[in-house]
Amino acid sequence: MSDTDDTPETRMARLLLALRSQGVTDAKVLRAIETTPRPLFTQELFKERAFEDSALPIACGQTISQPFIVGLMTQALKIDRRDRVLEIGTGSGYQTAILSKLARLVYTVERYRTLMKEAEARFKELGLTNVITRFGDGGEGWPEQAPFDRIMVTAAAPGEPKALLSQLKPNGILVAPIGKGPVQVLRRYTGDGHGGFQVEDLIDVRFVPLLEGVAKEL
Ligand code: SAH
Repeated sequence: MSDTDDTPETRMARLLLALRSQGVTDAKVLRAIETTPRPLFTQELFKERAFEDSALPIACGQTISQPFIVGLMTQALKIDRRDRVLEIGTGSGYQTAILSKLARLVYTVERYRTLMKEAEARFKELGLTNVITRFGDGGEGWPEQAPFDRIMVTAAAPGEPKALLSQLKPNGILVAPIGKGPVQVLRRYTGDGHGGFQVEDLIDVRFVPLLEGVAKEL
């Protein structure tokens, strides 16, 4: 029997096993992934591949992240139930949906109107009521709603994301891919409570770039 003959449950079980073996072991994170139907977030053409541990194309030339990277970044953020989380780069909304199951409120910013609208429809379909969306340049963060307990950036920042770090609570955590090239480093900034940060490099990653301004095209 080929993989594609398996039920969604079997495919999901296999995916979770793969994530676990790569170090995504937080039970709450795995549960959030298990209860978020990835096929809903992929394009029709790629639905068959939604349970594969790989990034897939979405509209506007962007990508839905690889489940392992989603799991790893979510785990690295150490989210508490009471947290208000800012996410930059809504894309398909897949990562947003997973964050929404772990946090109190998720604020998410996207520079493509089309992606934003599609993601909003998915949040509605899933009954996620703690997600607040914004069409805009996420590089500037969301000053009106700052400070945040946690910040996740799902597009590659060329260097230290200063504007975003300034919108983090003193003991907050920010996770972002940092780098200008095709391969970036996933970096975690943990606030020391006095305006400084402990910085850790977690793994090499490949993200689409964090671009300035909103997209002119739809
Ligand atoms: N978390 C997404 C991954 C999307 S890829 C998912 O799970 O599907 C990264 C996204 O960041 C793209 O949709 C891209 O348009 C968006 N992006 C890039 N630069 C941005 C910026 N300055 N502000 C907001 N979104 C941005």
